[in-house]
Amino acid sequence: MVGIYSPSLSSEWLVPGRNLFLTIHVLGVACFVYIVAKRFVPLVRAEGDPRFDRPLTRLGKVFKFWLGQWKHPRYRFAGTLHILIFAGFLLLATRAFSVLIVGVSPGFVMPGLSGESGRVYDLITDYAATIVFLCMVVAAIRRLVFKPARYAVPAKYGKSRTADAVFLLGLIAVLMIADSLFAASNAAGHALQDQPIEALAVFSLPWMLKIAIGSMPLATLWALNVTAYLVHEVTFYFLLCYRPFGIQFHVETSLFSIYFAKLERGTLKPVRWGVPDERLDQVKSFGVKTFEDFTWKHILDFYSCADCGRCADNCPANAAGRPLAPRFLSIKARDYAFQHYPVLGKANNGKPLIGNIYSEDEVWSCTTCGACEEECPLLVEYIDKIVDLRRGMIDDGNVPQSLQKPLKALENRGNPYGKMEKKKADWAKAEEFQRTCKVNTVDGNNSAGTLYFVDSITSYDDRMHSIGRSTSRILSHIGEDFGILGAAEKDSGHEVRRFGEEMLFMALRDHNTDAIKASGVQRIVTSDPHAYNALKHDYKDAPPVEHISQVIAREVRSGNIQFHRVENEDKVYAYHDPCYLGRHNQIYDEPRAVLDAIPGLKRVEMKRSRDRSFCCGGGGLMLFYEPKEEQRMGVLRVRMAAEAGANVIVTACPFCMANIEDAIKVAGLEGTMSAIDLTELVDQHMVREVCPVKAMELETATCGG
Ligand code: SF4
Ligand code: SF4
Repeated sequence: MVGIYSPSLSSEWLVPGRNLFLTIHVLGVACFVYIVAKRFVPLVRAEGDPRFDRPLTRLGKVFKFWLGQWKHPRYRFAGTLHILIFAGFLLLATRAFSVLIVGVSPGFVMPGLSGESGRVYDLITDYAATIVFLCMVVAAIRRLVFKPARYAVPAKYGKSRTADAVFLLGLIAVLMIADSLFAASNAAGHALQDQPIEALAVFSLPWMLKIAIGSMPLATLWALNVTAYLVHEVTFYFLLCYRPFGIQFHVETSLFSIYFAKLERGTLKPVRWGVPDERLDQVKSFGVKTFEDFTWKHILDFYSCADCGRCADNCPANAAGRPLAPRFLSIKARDYAFQHYPVLGKANNGKPLIGNIYSEDEVWSCTTCGACEEECPLLVEYIDKIVDLRRGMIDDGNVPQSLQKPLKALENRGNPYGKMEKKKADWAKAEEFQRTCKVNTVDGNNSAGTLYFVDSITSYDDRMHSIGRSTSRILSHIGEDFGILGAAEKDSGHEVRRFGEEMLFMALRDHNTDAIKASGVQRIVTSDPHAYNALKHDYKDAPPVEHISQVIAREVRSGNIQFHRVENEDKVYAYHDPCYLGRHNQIYDEPRAVLDAIPGLKRVEMKRSRDRSFCCGGGGLMLFYEPKEEQRMGVLRVRMAAEAGANVIVTACPFCMANIEDAIKVAGLEGTMSAIDLTELVDQHMVREVCPVKAMELETATCGG
């Protein structure tokens, strides 16, 4: 910094400038440390969470998501504004500290910033202060005049936070003005005294202020300089100490939240970190029941939420009018923390969360689609928290009525429909199908290289049998040596686990793992993304697993699968990304590559696709439980496909198929819109060398595909 004139020399106040500013520094820092220490208390009392591994990967996340602001441009205007403010703050940090120190140490220059480098830095930061100031003005106008819907707070979630947001924007604007006025009066004073003149960046805020005050007498300039300094200092420390009381706390916590963010997609946290499955029955209480049952990282997330509303804006449950908006899961928990762990006074904890800050329906409304986590610029996690809350409710015997029957059936029969195990492979026994494909059962005596893991919905739901048969025909066509477990296969337990029934999940997982091991297979293929996710992330010792779309894409690339031209060229297809294939496992390109390989197939993209795909509304047990909602998620999704100009929705998940076909009826689009699974479409269009019987036509005639 070049030539900052020190207000420490001022004697215009009751005490000498240096003493006054030193007192403000000490008080400001002490208050900040005290407040942050108090905010730290709930984290210390919270559950453990081992997030100290893989430091380099974590640092990479910090570079990408914190320093690189990776997710912000997903909302172009607000994101650009945030990036400008963030970059401005980073640039101004050194200048702000230099200015603070100058108040107690006249002529202080930050090491490395003397001479030419200091002059360049001054010019850059003149512009940075100007840009931050302008961003504050724009952001305030946006909040007050344009009022983006995602910032609105519905009455059920409390009162509007606009006043608080605008107050904070105002404080930062004051800080920028004070900083600029300090620099401007300093430069104007030097000019008047014929001292070396500091160059201010042309058209910057300090430059304009210098022009405005340049003709004032020296005494006025000096008074302005000291006043600007005092305002800067007081505002700086006020902001520092005020931030931990609201959304701006993310300025301090977000770096840590991102560093400690979850590293693996598709996974779920264990019931209790550090407690192996074998000892879970000794755990007295499962899940989250009180605030302190959250892990420290989850509480840090609550502090870090910037209340930007992006998560809720993308949450299908919120869009459908269910009583859930993820943003408020964080805000309510943070308000609870501030109230029960006050800065002044004793902590008082222990109230059950359900019924006090969260409603039951709010927690059951989530489909674990992951849209909120995908969108959050600060990597705030929701699924683990929601599942932990469900675990707590289940532990207290708080199971929604409509789910009690399927859960009992899963316990007794290994599937939510309560159907007999021996009927599990009936879909493969249909005469017409057997004329086109033979599906063997693998066990200890009869093995195969590949297991086709079918899972409950494809095995027992009549409509989905077609997916099982098409998958088998595709595997058979490419010469795969495959088989199924048949009666020995139980539900993968994927939804059971996300529903919060960990012990039941473990029983299903262990049974299937034993059956898979006994069958001697080397790898697994499944047409169900939920089973895929479970086998990949929730099972410990399962062989490698692939979704059928990955297999098909590979075979198309190698030329083993070829397609004939689509018969009806009036059909326009839109691919719907299933959450557990797309967002949770990043399989976006393979299904699209397969569709694009079918000659003559017209494909359009829905506005919300790939990582912004909109959940159809009913992964797993949601098929048996529907929280109160204003409209069905599936109906919203079907309308999105219609808006994109599609008349066929292709998906790659039997749960999506169930929801979408149902939604087409509810939306009154029968006859103009249809749905088909990727496997069915491939099966219809595969060029078969040795298959004179057009088996697939028979098959689709019965399934409506
Ligand atoms: S959780 Fe993330 S996306 Fe949601 S409001 Fe908070 S910061 Fe924004
Ligand atoms: S996982 Fe999906 S449904 Fe659940 S809160 Fe997030 S966005 Fe909403």
